[in-house]
Amino acid sequence: MQISKPDKFYDLVVVGGGMVGASFCCALEEALGENSLSILVIEAILPNANSAKQSSFDARSTALSFGSRKFFEGIGLWQALEEAVSAIHEIQVSDRGRLGSVEINRDEQNVEALGYVVENQRLGQVLNSRLNDSGKINFLCPALVSSVKATEKGMQLSLQHGDTETSVDASLLVLADGGKSPVCEQLAIARSTERYDQHALIANIVLEKPHQQIAFERFTDTGPLAVLPLKSIGGKNRGSLVWTLSVEQAAQYTDLGEELLPLLQERFGYKLGKILEIGETFVYPLSLSIAKEQVRPGLALLGNVAHTLHPVAGQGLNLALRDARVLVDVLISAKQRSLGLGEMDILLEYVAHQEADQATTTQFTHNITKLFSSNNEAKVWLRKFGLVAIELLPTLRRGLAERAMGLSKS
Ligand SMILES: Cc1cc2nc3c(=O)[nH]c(=O)nc-3n(C[C@H](O)[C@H](O)[C@H](O)COP(=O)(O)OP(=O)(O)OC[C@H]3O[C@@H](n4cnc5c(N)ncnc54)[C@H](O)[C@@H]3O)c2cc1C
Repeated sequence: MQISKPDKFYDLVVVGGGMVGASFCCALEEALGENSLSILVIEAILPNANSAKQSSFDARSTALSFGSRKFFEGIGLWQALEEAVSAIHEIQVSDRGRLGSVEINRDEQNVEALGYVVENQRLGQVLNSRLNDSGKINFLCPALVSSVKATEKGMQLSLQHGDTETSVDASLLVLADGGKSPVCEQLAIARSTERYDQHALIANIVLEKPHQQIAFERFTDTGPLAVLPLKSIGGKNRGSLVWTLSVEQAAQYTDLGEELLPLLQERFGYKLGKILEIGETFVYPLSLSIAKEQVRPGLALLGNVAHTLHPVAGQGLNLALRDARVLVDVLISAKQRSLGLGEMDILLEYVAHQEADQATTTQFTHNITKLFSSNNEAKVWLRKFGLVAIELLPTLRRGLAERAMGLSKS
């Protein structure tokens, strides 16, 4: 429920009601059952605000893994999302101008879909309406958390809401305020960061032919280029473009408008016929950035503030939802054992559950980024060999498919 004034104390405060913070809150509410906790989520920008300002629910689309579908099904939100998502029945990975491609499809993997593409703004509407309707979650928006400090019993936050400055205490603060988190900096949580010197240019495009529920990942001389299937609107065959480019190219291309079409066509090819239209373009700097501490007494980091990954493998949100699921389970178990939510032993249980998944997903994404962003001949050969090997070897194909679907355990 929307509130206009926060109480002085909550068991749990979540900073950031973006994709990860809002999903975590909804999952926690669902899992609470008869248990009660006082919960506050603080979000700086309304989900329907100017898309450039809202860092979660902007013009992008997100590929949700099969595991993430299960997450949203489990919290009763899948039905509302389903009518707007586009299922991925096949993933085609290829290297522009070279032999070797991999096709992974749902039949051989024996699943209904390999994943689903949702427009972020739609996800925002669904999550936001759940937060607004919730009887258990207090939702304060727009409100900006300006500083946070540790106290004996947890954390104390200072926040600005309208013209009012106020402070709130919490046993546990879940920080889900994204990869640029000033709060994380202010708490002196160190990060390991590797900039890729690449930007992702994103846009919605209209194609001559229907995508037939295929997600295309092409590795080009300028970097990986993905076209994800979107629901058609008004009879238009729509796709979501994510094109990794050098910083200079991205700056140059983003101003080209329709003149970008021939360049894009040349890189993507004619598998879906002519590219007829391109919508507004947006550019995102790309880096791998991992917080060196995931928890402290009274504090847990979730989503991009904990780990920001390259979007090439579509793993960032999917990983964060697996983290959110485990954190919810750990907190409910703590509540049932009458333990304090912010106790370090409890939070370390969460870390122990998720550190292997976080490390392998991060490494997988980083390796793919490095391998597929290079024109170095050795990497080109490795890529070609890798694509052919995956095409030929069922276990490798299964491994890749499981990771793409978010079902991999290793
Ligand atoms: C081009 C691109 C494509 C991607 N595609 C995929 C994909 O296909 N699949 C996938 O799994 N992942 C994908 N990702 C990754 C995914 O977008 C991120 O994992 C996700 O956005 C992380 O969400 P978040 O909620 O942690 O952070 P954010 O999205 O940054 O949200 C943070 C929220 O916190 C709020 N906030 C910030 N500071 C404060 C404050 N001080 N007080 C109150 N509120 C605050 C913000 O307003 C915002 O709503 C992609 C990323 C990019 C860049």
